[in-house]
Amino acid sequence: MGVVAFWHMVKLEIQTGENNSILRTESVPVKAFDKDLKKLVKDMKETMLKADGLGLAAPQVGHNLRMFVLILDFKGEEQRVIEMVNPVILEHGEETGVAEEGCLSLPGLYAKVERWNRVMVEFYDVGGVRQVLELFGLDAREVLHENDHLDGVLFIDRVKELEEEEEGNLVL
Ligand SMILES: [Zn+2]
Repeated sequence: MGVVAFWHMVKLEIQTGENNSILRTESVPVKAFDKDLKKLVKDMKETMLKADGLGLAAPQVGHNLRMFVLILDFKGEEQRVIEMVNPVILEHGEETGVAEEGCLSLPGLYAKVERWNRVMVEFYDVGGVRQVLELFGLDAREVLHENDHLDGVLFIDRVKELEEEEEGNLVL
């Protein structure tokens, strides 16, 4: 990541709370790849880094737009911060993994969440160029977590689903 000058970085206000209406609204596609979008992407990247997050979706900073930023290859040598505008999960593998997640919008909450281990995601960069990436493991998990934010879904919802399944198993 190099040396990051945190002291002059923007930090946007982060929406919090399980029942926050902005977090629970389905976001709309980005229509204009203009300078407002460029500024929002830049400010969101800075806010994410300053808050020690691995990802940040536009609704989390008060904009119901289908866009998020994230750190890919967080534990590897090709760590990079990118934006995904109007992302679509094109396909996923059949294998899932379970790992603990948290969220900048739900401070102090952590829980194990089951997600697909491999996804193929289509998106546009801030310049409007279409890209397709195949991502695995933590990268795939991040994309799925952030993409959920665009549909008003929080990770705790997925935990509830798992718990409900477990209760179903007990009945048997
Ligand atoms: Zn989140």
